[in-house]
Amino acid sequence: MMKIPLVDLKENYLSIKDEIDRAIQEVIDSTSFIMGPYLKTFEKNFASFCNAKHCIGCSSGTIAVHLALLAGGIIKGDEVITVPNTFIATTECISYVDGTIKFVDVESDTALINIDHLKKAITKKTKALIVVHLYGQMPNMKQIRELADAHDLFLIEDAAQAHAAEWDGHQPGYYGDVASYSFFPAKNLGCFGDGGAVVTNNDELAEHIRLLLNHGRTTKYEHQIEGYNYRLDPLQAAVLNAKLPHLSTWTDLRRKHARFYDTHLSSMVERPVESPGAKHVYYMYEIRTPRRDELMEYLKKQGISCGIHYPLPLHLQPAYRHLGFVKGDFPISEQLATEILSIPIYPELTTEQQQYIIDHITTFFK
Ligand SMILES: *Cc1c(COP(=O)(O)O)cnc(C)c1O
Repeated sequence: MMKIPLVDLKENYLSIKDEIDRAIQEVIDSTSFIMGPYLKTFEKNFASFCNAKHCIGCSSGTIAVHLALLAGGIIKGDEVITVPNTFIATTECISYVDGTIKFVDVESDTALINIDHLKKAITKKTKALIVVHLYGQMPNMKQIRELADAHDLFLIEDAAQAHAAEWDGHQPGYYGDVASYSFFPAKNLGCFGDGGAVVTNNDELAEHIRLLLNHGRTTKYEHQIEGYNYRLDPLQAAVLNAKLPHLSTWTDLRRKHARFYDTHLSSMVERPVESPGAKHVYYMYEIRTPRRDELMEYLKKQGISCGIHYPLPLHLQPAYRHLGFVKGDFPISEQLATEILSIPIYPELTTEQQQYIIDHITTFFK
């Protein structure tokens, strides 16, 4: 029996072990452990990779969303619209700034925000929009940008799952005022702990975010504003900088694996839909079947680890009971939660492993 994890961090490390070990050792030898050249180099390289003017490293993807909302000037009572089928970090940050969480349901085929519903949900109190590029795919950002402009909304792209994704040839941070990234180890670009970044083309926002994440300081003991300690660790930046030159290859491999699954799973389950304008980077390859729980249990017995992203939509989470939502409020998100299953799609996945997964899904449905 094969053993296939959902994500294989060990294989990923081994594939470029020397480069990573060297990068870490260099930081240790330099003792440049806070801010400094290794952080700066990564920020410069990631901005360039994203084709954006600024990248500001920070301590996690959650913090990146928090910084985005702070920089966007979101305060008590401001409505912030997002989707219920995301990781709770997206909405936690709305609460950090005392904003009001407002949900909009998603499209059934892509699991991304339903733009018609979004149009209807915008009110005078709506100040910001957090679009989640779930599983590595961006929705129609051109339309969303136009909508944000028409209603003067601050547009945040939660790109925690969408490194190197594109809409109409543009990566996150082009359409949005800011894009937030996570470098959590399992993400498409991951470090060896927590890490994140904000990407933007706006000089003022970039400057404000840099102040916020480092105690509002302009010099060592001169503080323009009260800020936070939300800095990205240079050791993590060095790991990310060693990995960055491989991100395009890894993304190509994810896309290649997706095509292989597309070809061989089409008759059995619903597969991810890649919209014509989108470049999907398959952080997760999400299949759908009403027999999800049975299938997951069966694959587990065959040594294949799967995941569910996410099993309970945010509006039904105990943490949000006080918001008063009930089952049926966002029916598409609720239905997706019962049917989706993430199967392994990490870059190092071999054809043999992929065939093994396909064979067992085929046997299950026979
Ligand atoms: C991972 C993730 C986050 C949070 O990132 P962390 O680095 O774990 O704080 C936020 N939003 C989405 C959509 C994510 O997938």
